[in-house]
Amino acid sequence: MIYQYWNKEMETLERSALEAYQLTQLKAAVAQALQTPFYRERLAAVGIRSDADIKDLEDVRRIPFTTKGDLRTGFPYGFLSIPREEVVRLHASSGTTGTPTTIYFSKEDIHRWTAFVARSIYATGCNKTDVFQNMITYGLFTGGLGFHFGGEAVGMLVIPSGSGNTTRQFKLMQDFGTTVVHATPSFLLHVQAKMQEEGVRREQLKLTRAFAGAEPYSEDTRRRIEELLRIDVYNSYGLSEMNGPGVAFECQAKNGLHLWEDGYLGEIVNPETLEPVPDGETGELVLTCLCREATPILRYRTRDLSGFYTEPCPCGRTHRRLRRITGRTDDMLIINGVNLFPGQIEEVIMAIKEVGNNYLILVEKEGVLDRLTVKIEVGSEVFRDDTRPLNALKERIRKTLQASITINPRVELHQQGSLPVSEGKARRVLDQRPTV
Ligand code: ADP
Ligand code: ZN
Repeated sequence: MIYQYWNKEMETLERSALEAYQLTQLKAAVAQALQTPFYRERLAAVGIRSDADIKDLEDVRRIPFTTKGDLRTGFPYGFLSIPREEVVRLHASSGTTGTPTTIYFSKEDIHRWTAFVARSIYATGCNKTDVFQNMITYGLFTGGLGFHFGGEAVGMLVIPSGSGNTTRQFKLMQDFGTTVVHATPSFLLHVQAKMQEEGVRREQLKLTRAFAGAEPYSEDTRRRIEELLRIDVYNSYGLSEMNGPGVAFECQAKNGLHLWEDGYLGEIVNPETLEPVPDGETGELVLTCLCREATPILRYRTRDLSGFYTEPCPCGRTHRRLRRITGRTDDMLIINGVNLFPGQIEEVIMAIKEVGNNYLILVEKEGVLDRLTVKIEVGSEVFRDDTRPLNALKERIRKTLQASITINPRVELHQQGSLPVSEGKARRVLDQRPTV
């Protein structure tokens, strides 16, 4: 395989030089953060009063963590560290877990962010001959404009289709010969199911690649999308606190996401003790933004669970790779005392070939006990007068799930296309237990 680099020098920089660069950027980020009352106080409390107090990369561990709660407290302008007149754009997180938080960008910030997205897109083998349909929500959410600008920087023809309306999406794909799409993995599965329903044949489309992200998905889900749509799917990770997309991205080796370490300083910590985990182990990803002046954010607790691969990537990039993000620490459900991540359910069911493209996890209270129901779409061929095959499949799924999650779920099978589809991030869990 021939790998192409957007910024070869930076992407393949020797570790020692990369770390030296990170130190310079970290000092700049600290100096910038000291412009805000929030960080001035936080940093003074640990004896950091100027960027000169940061002497090597290890010193990052002296900096207190920043949480989503902190950012909310600072709403709206508490984290702004440049004059308001220098700000050219704002974005907000999707608010999956509460009040959204706001990030501000200067002109320079937009340029730097765009370069990271362009680098990510280019690493998957795209170039200016591609037609790129950005099937994700535009607006305050960073995924729309972030990929839009990145795609244009690469020189691709960008179609700002936004999310939803599959019929129009197919029309655009056919009219303009779309080769690359960006969407959430759940929307890609929905697109595939709709293709069948609307009689769109694969041969009518020129698709070769998809960037899938904004929500966790399993390796089996990736494989399923790749096989059904006959494309390559690249995992795309980002969060608004770190600009948005283009934080970590898979290269053509498709084995882990390169964290762009000249822009983002990454640590993996134990979410309980907040101490670093041993090399290669899973924990909570903590990120410091090294490439933004308007809203400095240091040691942000992403709550996302991942770990670093320790072996080098065949592509030659020196930026470390993150493992697929399996979920968030705060996604965890406790069902009758047993801990469960929604991703564990997806991992099991997406490996079962009869299972369709959508599912929903329902948690209810039944008396004093918690009740877990997994609603799963399956193809119409299973729904016949003879209900035995349906019941057998249901029982097989239930047993497989129980063996893996050690909770006995109720399993319901539904017709393909009957469970709700979200245009943005999928809402897989419906927790209807009363909050006490
Ligand atoms: P919100 O926290 O409101 O969802 P964002 O819209 O900024 O805010 O979304 C960022 C979050 O989306 C990440 O912190 C992560 O939980 C999730 N996410 C983004 N990309 C991926 C991915 N490729 N795999 C798993 N989770 C992802
Ligand atoms: Zn690589």
